[in-house]
Amino acid sequence: MRRLLLALPFALLPLAIAHAADEHEHEHGSLGAHEHGVGRLNAVLDGQALELELDSPAMNLVGFEHLATTPADKAKVAAARKQLENPLALFNLPKGAGCVVSTQELNSPLFGDKPEADHDDDDDDHDHDAKDGAHEHHHDHSEIHAHYQFTCATPTALSNLDLTQVFKTFPATQKIQVQLIGPSGQQGVQATAQAATLKF
Ligand SMILES: [Zn+2]
Repeated sequence: MRRLLLALPFALLPLAIAHAADEHEHEHGSLGAHEHGVGRLNAVLDGQALELELDSPAMNLVGFEHLATTPADKAKVAAARKQLENPLALFNLPKGAGCVVSTQELNSPLFGDKPEADHDDDDDDHDHDAKDGAHEHHHDHSEIHAHYQFTCATPTALSNLDLTQVFKTFPATQKIQVQLIGPSGQQGVQATAQAATLKF
């Protein structure tokens, strides 16, 4: 519903509705955990082990958060997935570091994974309609989660983490909140397309 309203040109909307949509956006932002345009990345370099964990609103990666039903939307999901399945290129890991992927896991309702909170008990999908708006809100938003573990033969070649390619591949990503843990300790950094290189 919200998506539909926002998709309409604002000029066509009565002022009251435009205002309501605006407020909704506000509410959403205050949740903090899921803000369109903002991704979160944990990066841990420990000896030869490098771990990267990316959490992103699906909006940033595919441009929508509903289940893909049209061929065009399915193609967008497949394309994003393909990029995420090639982390050595996506995270621009230097060849000299000799990193190989040891585990790789992608999760998203958009990839057909069931949201955890949803299906514990039984079935009743119709139940949702009866519940209030707050509950519905939960279903409007979807994330994509990517978790990688690498083994790097020459970790000293990993002095930087370069996210340039992530911003280029997924231009709807405006910033990534990064927690970096490496040889020089832990730091929280905000990466943008203009400042995409982080020091481990
Ligand atoms: Zn969302």
